[in-house]
Amino acid sequence: MIITYLRSSSFNTHCFCAQQYFLEYVLGMRSPSGIKADKGTIVHKALEILAYIKLTLQNKENIYTDDIVGPINVHDYDLDRIIDAVYQYYTSQFKHHSWSAKDLKDCRLWVNKAITDHNGTFDPRNRNILQPEQHFDIVIDKPWAYYSYKTQSGILDGNLAIKGTIDLITEVDENTIEIVDWKTGRRLDWATGQEKTLEKLQNDPQLRIYHYAVQKLYPHMDHIIFTINFINDGGAFSVCYDKSDLPKTENMIRQKFETIRDTTRPSLNKSWKCTKLCHFGKTTFENSHILPVIEYRDNQICAKDTFMTRCEQIKHDIDLKGINNVIDEYTSPGYTVGKYKAPGSAE
Ligand code: SF4
Repeated sequence: MIITYLRSSSFNTHCFCAQQYFLEYVLGMRSPSGIKADKGTIVHKALEILAYIKLTLQNKENIYTDDIVGPINVHDYDLDRIIDAVYQYYTSQFKHHSWSAKDLKDCRLWVNKAITDHNGTFDPRNRNILQPEQHFDIVIDKPWAYYSYKTQSGILDGNLAIKGTIDLITEVDENTIEIVDWKTGRRLDWATGQEKTLEKLQNDPQLRIYHYAVQKLYPHMDHIIFTINFINDGGAFSVCYDKSDLPKTENMIRQKFETIRDTTRPSLNKSWKCTKLCHFGKTTFENSHILPVIEYRDNQICAKDTFMTRCEQIKHDIDLKGINNVIDEYTSPGYTVGKYKAPGSAE
């Protein structure tokens, strides 16, 4: 499979199901967002604004201008009005849900929990802010991270990158950073169905990838604390990393990269989750630009003589035509997994 970068979400998707990874990150097929995740986006945005308000105060400025809410006087603002404005914006974007008054109430409640639980320790306004919403896109400069793929559009080559956005980076002292990440969902590893304990969080791919990135972005920092705050399921859990953790993290990234790169037939992780949680197990290619195929075999997820699910049809075509033909035929319009090198180009 073509892989040019890893995010914690793509890493976790691959742990959950290699076929789902292929559909989402190689073919660019997206699943519609769930209402719970979209409420989480609203809560994150409100907390991000609070972090920028504090950063504006640290910089001894008076106004923070947000892309959704507009100018905010950092000495005199109403948090509920900020949450309402963010809510209005996102509910007008995510029109595929039926939003109710309870959803706004939940968003307000969850923001309030995030800033008051643990005696307000995780209220961004009580922290020394280094960077809210820290984006990273870090190319791994190691020989093992090199890739080269022949594609219909030419040679695609380069080094693996890790990408993502970290909710909040705060400074504890001159040698220590604390990363704060909020979760509004359950404290579950969806790949295994098991609860995430402190011990399991120590090796959580998201935490380790973020640690690797933050260590590259802030190389002078010796200690990195990662606090993941499950607002609705157990509160804050903190894991500490230092530079001696980097080889293990790099090995984790390398193993995942090599496994994905060397896959020619992504495996299907069939379970009850296919028809309950996975968009590709619940839908077919009817009404899309791709012709749907009618199932003709016995003992498949979908019944004989019905349309195959998207997942089944792609598997069927990989078996029949090979993965490269499937990539050429099924990649979503406008989607690319990376930058292509034009044939003959030296760039
Ligand atoms: S339907 Fe099941 S096997 Fe297919 S992509 Fe979804 S989770 Fe994986």
